[in-house]
Amino acid sequence: VILTCYPEMFPGSLGYSVIGNALNNKKFSLEIVNLHNFGIDKRGSVDDEPFGGGPGMVIRPDVIEKALNSITFKTDNYCKIFLTPSGQKLSQPKLNNLSKHDEMLILCGRFEGVDQRAIEILGFQEISIGDYVLSGGELAAAVFCDSIIRLVPGVLGDESSALTDSFQDNRLSEPIYTRPKNYEGLKVPEILISGNTKAIEKWREKKSLE
Ligand code: SAM
Repeated sequence: VILTCYPEMFPGSLGYSVIGNALNNKKFSLEIVNLHNFGIDKRGSVDDEPFGGGPGMVIRPDVIEKALNSITFKTDNYCKIFLTPSGQKLSQPKLNNLSKHDEMLILCGRFEGVDQRAIEILGFQEISIGDYVLSGGELAAAVFCDSIIRLVPGVLGDESSALTDSFQDNRLSEPIYTRPKNYEGLKVPEILISGNTKAIEKWREKKSLE
């Protein structure tokens, strides 16, 4: 479930390729909740000026709570995540851990961010997708969802595919090649066309460590 001021930004990139297929094949479901539907006035306002002054507006805690109360989780195995640059930095081990949840609520901030009391009272984990600042949490939510959905069994064609990706086992992916065998004078490493599966495995292991 994604809580956002810009519902039209979804499914966006989550509607394409393997993730899009998984969505169409109901390997996961996406519910988008528009924060403006829980605004404090007829215009659906969700934000107000920051106490103490400063630039930008802040999303109100009561709006977030109302939106949250409208959501029914199907299981008890869910977590609530607020995407924010000041959160714990996302990593593959963190994603592997979070992927054990059956359901997730993802709150996208906008403007200056979200009133801290909403985060504390409603029990959000704060997660950052990296040390840089986006204009809103929607792109961060797309990155987060894409990287976690590919860990859902059945989403990737080959079950072992996600396990051989970079960062699993603290490794990086080895270099990979396809046709043509000779491209502008650069040849595919001989070993990969040798048919010797044991030697190929060893080569991959070595390159991955390098
Ligand atoms: N004032 C905030 C700060 O300095 O940390 C930045 C707010 S940013 C303009 C608006 C929203 O974008 C944030 O509330 C958050 O939801 C999202 N966002 C921006 N950068 C992000 C990042 N690196 N990771 C996760 N979310 C991010």
